Formats: sequence, structure tokens, C-alpha cells
Amino acid sequence: MPTLQLPRIRQPRLVLLVALLILSFAATAVLAYQAQDAARSHRVAAERALRDYASFAAMNFAVHSKEALYGTITSVLYQPGEMGLGAPTAYTLPKSVARRATITCGGKVVDSTLYFFRLEIPDARISRERGCVPHVVRAWVVDTVSVHAKHSYKRAQEYATVVGTVGAEPYLIAYVLKRDTTGKPTTAFGFASPFIPFAKPTFKEIAHWWLLPPSLTGEVKNDSILSARVTDSEGRVLYASALQYPPKITGEMSFPETFGGLKFSIAIRPEAAGTLVIGGLPRSRLPVLLGLLAVCGTLVIVALMQLRREYELARLRSDFISSISHELRTPLAQVRMFAETLLLGRVRSEQEARRSLEIIDQEARRLTHLVENVLQFSRAERNLSRLSPEPTDIAGHVRETAESFGPIAAARQVQIRLELTEGIFATVDRGALRQTLLNLLDNAVKYGPTGEVVTIGSARVGDDVRIWVEDRGPGITESERDRIWDPFYRLQRDANSAIAGSGIGLSVVRQLIRQHGGSVWVEDAPNGGARFLVELPGATSRSDRGGVTSPATDASMPDEAVAPAVPGRGGRSS
Ligand code: ADP
Repeated sequence: MPTLQLPRIRQPRLVLLVALLILSFAATAVLAYQAQDAARSHRVAAERALRDYASFAAMNFAVHSKEALYGTITSVLYQPGEMGLGAPTAYTLPKSVARRATITCGGKVVDSTLYFFRLEIPDARISRERGCVPHVVRAWVVDTVSVHAKHSYKRAQEYATVVGTVGAEPYLIAYVLKRDTTGKPTTAFGFASPFIPFAKPTFKEIAHWWLLPPSLTGEVKNDSILSARVTDSEGRVLYASALQYPPKITGEMSFPETFGGLKFSIAIRPEAAGTLVIGGLPRSRLPVLLGLLAVCGTLVIVALMQLRREYELARLRSDFISSISHELRTPLAQVRMFAETLLLGRVRSEQEARRSLEIIDQEARRLTHLVENVLQFSRAERNLSRLSPEPTDIAGHVRETAESFGPIAAARQVQIRLELTEGIFATVDRGALRQTLLNLLDNAVKYGPTGEVVTIGSARVGDDVRIWVEDRGPGITESERDRIWDPFYRLQRDANSAIAGSGIGLSVVRQLIRQHGGSVWVEDAPNGGARFLVELPGATSRSDRGGVTSPATDASMPDEAVAPAVPGRGGRSS
């Protein structure tokens, strides 16, 4: 006899597939790392080039500023007449100095920046002066120049500059020293000025020059590419261009000895990177790469889950084949055994013969029921399941089904109790409803104890008809109540027990009831056990038309009346 072969993922193939998926994820991760690394080194190279440009610009700024400052000082020092401190009208200030502010000093408006002096070195006395400075500054000039002239002014020097802080403000002194024939310092001529107003216009002017080669910047102005700043040794800002860019790409140049120590800084505007470096500053691809990696990881996980499902399904199908064969074999063996007994005339009495025939009938019913379930399941799998609904007296149909189940129940000494509300009609496929009830009854008998009472009831709930089957078995825990409807699923306790089953009965029930637009769920029965409930739409009652509702009856004890009550919390789970 040919054996039925179902596709099954074998263990080594599964391991290979999982390994391939993990490898592909690892390869993606390596690629992402390489891409990120390439982008990072590109960025590092571009940043380095930009930093070099910033340093170059800072050097230009520093060198030109220094030269321009010395130029300004020279032109002020060598004003005609200034060396001798002639009449004020005799001198004209260079343009860059003349632009500076004026202040009122001793009732007179004077140039705020320049205080000219002639200092007699031997007796540290100012013999002539012009301009106006606070008293402390004047005293500082006398002290500083007297000491500097004697100890620091070199013979070859054309003039000297000194920057010092008076109060909180930096001051500049520039002077020329005269010596007598023996070389002793006699007189110092020069000027003092607050350093910031003196130097700021020069810094400002230079900051607008070409600090970077025009071939690089094109027509773009400095302001749009870089910002400039000059600080002194104490970190005081002497000049800062109007626009300041974040100090991310910077270059610096310092003159620790010049004008008390100056530091020139240039910051390149990050957005201008595209103008200065081909391709600009590459943006970090990390978020995109991480996103892609996450997507890839998710896909791998989904694929693994799908694979596991496939594997699980293949296993379940294979289990199904073996369990269905097992289920078929037991009744078939019974049928054969009792048929043989009858054929060989081994029965001792009429009663025994009848008993054998009853068993054959009961097992044949079970086989039919089993085969119908398999057929229905297969039809549903292939989407071929069709209903033929017709108006049906629910109580009558339920009673009929329960009666046809009598022999199977009797074999386990199970008593079927009916709690039926008469006169309820619904349009249903009778075969489907019968199969549903037989499945539920079969489970109630199969999983419940021998000699138990199984209740089957029906009632109208709003526009629906509700049918329930209640047993006194072990029941179904909350956590399993959703899964029992899945094809091939059996509770662990039953899968490992001697109770035969294939796990398709309840999935057929759910599928048939859903096709009716109804619902089915399970809950705890009041005296232990499980209560399965089915609800079908479109109920009509005879009482709607003035009919009478009859009391419920017991199938095996037709005379006993039981008051019908509608169970179920209404919490549907399927
Ligand atoms: P089976 O062929 O195993 O009975 P079903 O689909 O009918 O398959 O049921 C699925 C599983 O649900 C069963 O294996 C059993 O573990 C559990 N089950 C079904 N009905 C009952 C019940 N009345 N009492 C306890 N457990 C049940």
C-alpha cells in the first residue's frame, strides 16, 4: 500500500537555512560597517583639508594684521612735528586712526585713543604731552617707559611697543628713544592708547581681505565662508567679526611676544565646506545604515519565524497523519474483530450477537464521523467548503443529533442531558450544525470521565440562537482557550495520553460556525469541566408568532424536565 508523503523540512536543511539567513545578516552588517567606515574616513579627510584652510586663513589674518598695526604705529609716531611734539594743528592722523572716537576730557573734546608724551628719562618726568588719559594711565606710562627704556630698548631698535593692563583695559605704548653721545637714554617720544579701539579697525579691515586664495573661494565673500576673532593673552576678545560660526572647523595663529600676546582664530562655516572641498563635508550615513540594518535584522527574524512556522506545520501534519491512522485503526480493528466473531458463529447468545452488532454500529459511526471531519477540513483548506442553509427547528435538530450520538455515549456510560428551548428557528446548514455538535459531544465524552453527565442546551439570546455543550472533564485553562481552535493543536496533557485525537475537530467547528456568520468559544462549566458555546445569527421564535415554549428534556430520560437557563458570559474568543 503506498504511503502518504507530506513535504517535511528535515533538520539538516533547516539548520542550513537558518545558518544562511544568519550569514546574510552578518554580511549586511559587515557591508554597513564598511560603508560607515568609508564615509567616516572621507569625512575625516575633508575635515582635515578644511582645518588646513582655516589655519592658512588664520596665518594670513595674523601676519597681515601685525604688519598693518606696525604700519599704523609708524605713521602715527613719525607725524611731522610729533617727534618734538609740535603744535597740535601740525599733525594729521593716518586714516585708520583718525576714524576713531573722541571723548570729552577736562572740558575739551579730544581724540580718545592717542595720548602723546615726551618723557625725560633721567628724572622720569613728562615734559610735554598732548591728549587726555586718566591719571593712573599717565602714571603707568611714566613708570613703564622709564624702566623699559633703561633695560629693554635695544640700540638698533627703531621704536618700541609695550602692551599692559591698566584697570581692566589693555593699553598700548609706542615710543622712540633718544640717547646722548655716551648712549644713555635721555628722552622718550611716543603715544599711549587703549589697545582695543586702536587695533580694532585694523583687524576689521584685514578680516575682509582675501584670507583664502580667490581660486578657492571664487566670488564668495569672507563673511559667507569664515568668521574671525582676535583675543589677547588673557582671553579678552579684541575683535570678533559680525557673523560668528560654530567653532567646529577652526585654525589659529598666535604671537605670544607681540602686543602682549595675540591669538588670531578663524572658524570655517560648515555649510561652506562644499565651496572649499570637492564633494563638501559628507554627512554621516550612520542613521540610514542603522535603519537598514534594523530592517534587515527584522526581515531575518520574520524569515526565521516563518521558517519555524513551516517547520512546526510540517511536523504537525506529519503528526496528524500518524494520529489519524491511529484513530482509524482502533475502530477498524473493533469492527473486524466483532464481524469475525459473528461470521465464525462464536457468539454464545442472542444478546451477545446484538451487543457485537451494536459495537460494529458504534465504531462505524465513529469512523464516518472521523472521515467527515477530515473531508470537511480538507475542503476548508482548499476553500471548497459550501453551506446549504435552510430554516431549521434548532431544538429538534439538536435532539436528533444527540440521539444519533447515543450509542457512542452509552459505550462510556455517559448520560446526555438536554436543556432545550423549543420553538427557536434559524437558517443553518443542518449537516454542518450536526457535525459541529457531534465534534463537541465527541470531545465532551472523550475527555470527560466515564459515567459523567454531558449537557447539551439551546436558547435564544437576542437575535441569536445559542447552543452549548457542557462536560465534567478537566476543562481548558484560560491560556489555552485561543489555541485549541488551531488545526492540529492538542493540549499537552492529551497529546501525551492514550486518548486518540488528530487536533482538527475544533478547527472544523470554528470554520463551520464562522461560515454561518456565528461565533464559538469555550468557558468553565459551573461544576468543573468545559462548556463550549456556539452562537448563530438570525434566530426566530415560534413565540414571536404566538407559539409556546416547551420545557427542556433529557434525551436518555425523556420524562425528566429541566428548567432551561441561558449560560455564557458572552465573552467570545472565536
Ligand atoms: P482532538 O482530535 O484532539 O480531539 P480537537 O480539535 O477536537 O482535536 O480538540 C483539540 C484539543 O482541545 C484536544 O486535543 C484537547 O486537548 C482539547 N479539548 C477539546 N475538547 C475538550 C474538552 N471537552 N475537554 C477538555 N479538553 C478538550
